[in-house]
Amino acid sequence: MNPVYAALPTTIFEKMSALARETGAINLGQGFPDAPGPEDVRRAAADALIDGYNQYPPMLGLPELRRAVASHYRDHHSLDVDWQSEVVVTSGATEAIAAAILSLVSEGDEVVLIQPLYDAYMPMVRRAGGIPRLIRLEPPHWTLDAAALDAAVGPKTRLIIFNNPANPTGRMYDRATLELIADRCIRHDVVAVCDEVWEHVIFGGEHIPLITLPGMRDRTVKIGSAGKIFALTGWKVGWMVAGKALAAQVARAHQFMTFTTPPNLQVAVTQGLGKPASWFMEMRTAFARSRDRLIAGLEAAGYAVLPSQATWFVSVDLTASGITLDDAAFADRMAIEGGVVTIPVSAFFEEGAVTNIVRLCYCKDDAVLDAAIERLAKMRAKLTHS
Ligand code: GLN
Repeated sequence: MNPVYAALPTTIFEKMSALARETGAINLGQGFPDAPGPEDVRRAAADALIDGYNQYPPMLGLPELRRAVASHYRDHHSLDVDWQSEVVVTSGATEAIAAAILSLVSEGDEVVLIQPLYDAYMPMVRRAGGIPRLIRLEPPHWTLDAAALDAAVGPKTRLIIFNNPANPTGRMYDRATLELIADRCIRHDVVAVCDEVWEHVIFGGEHIPLITLPGMRDRTVKIGSAGKIFALTGWKVGWMVAGKALAAQVARAHQFMTFTTPPNLQVAVTQGLGKPASWFMEMRTAFARSRDRLIAGLEAAGYAVLPSQATWFVSVDLTASGITLDDAAFADRMAIEGGVVTIPVSAFFEEGAVTNIVRLCYCKDDAVLDAAIERLAKMRAKLTHS
């Protein structure tokens, strides 16, 4: 390869979804739901497209959507943000993350990342010239302690990238951990880039945005995603909220990446964010049903399912399930021979990978889940009896 090209890896989601397409396996890998998403929101997008929302919207996002994001966080998290200067609409949360990294990290800045980590962070940090400082969490509880944080955060730390609720683990950090992170951010003058796309997909407990902790209001970039809230992953409508100075800085990178986001989708998301609290409860109840169905099926088949409180994913511990294959080997065999695509959690590690956990996406039709469970059960029986 021409040496001027950057060494950017292929994402595990692309790899595993391609494998699903090639083999016809059931895809419980990449996270996307089978359900079509709320009809009123989709119809609002279609109507807006016909009614003329088709030219460049403002770089920061349609005013009505920025207002809706601000009211939404006021209602759901008692967080007050100024819609005019503290909200930026982006083309998905991934763009917001990239814009935050590219606008806040300079050559030689240290960036603290927590493994297992979502696979988009690291390549962006590297391209921005940042020096990754990795923290490694361990199953089954994936807890972050002060010693691990203190080993990674120091005088050169510019950013911490913090994903809560976390993908792939499905864990929500408790208030004590948030306080610990806030304390170190304040002490070392660090900005927290908070990927909170799973803020509404939670099962019990309360999501506490780090930006609401004392001292964090002006040093946090909070990132959200309509794709996750409304289960419309292909829409790529996201946003970031931050104090005025930080928001302006991140917007500078956004203007040179996508500049804007499709305006008809922005109109539809505006409508969606105004849905009553009951809609969010029902959404969770529906996901909880599918989640429970997959967990029950996996457990009945002898798989050890790890505790989780959020996201569209559950994980199984292969070792505790009596399987000696590592996660990547299991995922390959399960896809090619067993007919179900999963995601090996080692793909979320840069170093010292945990290699005995696979992630499964549960937001699928009952019949799909049942068929997947049957295939997973057969594979476990084969692997544990040979
Ligand atoms: N967020 C999705 C997941 O974790 C993947 C998104 C993507 O494919 N890049 O499965």
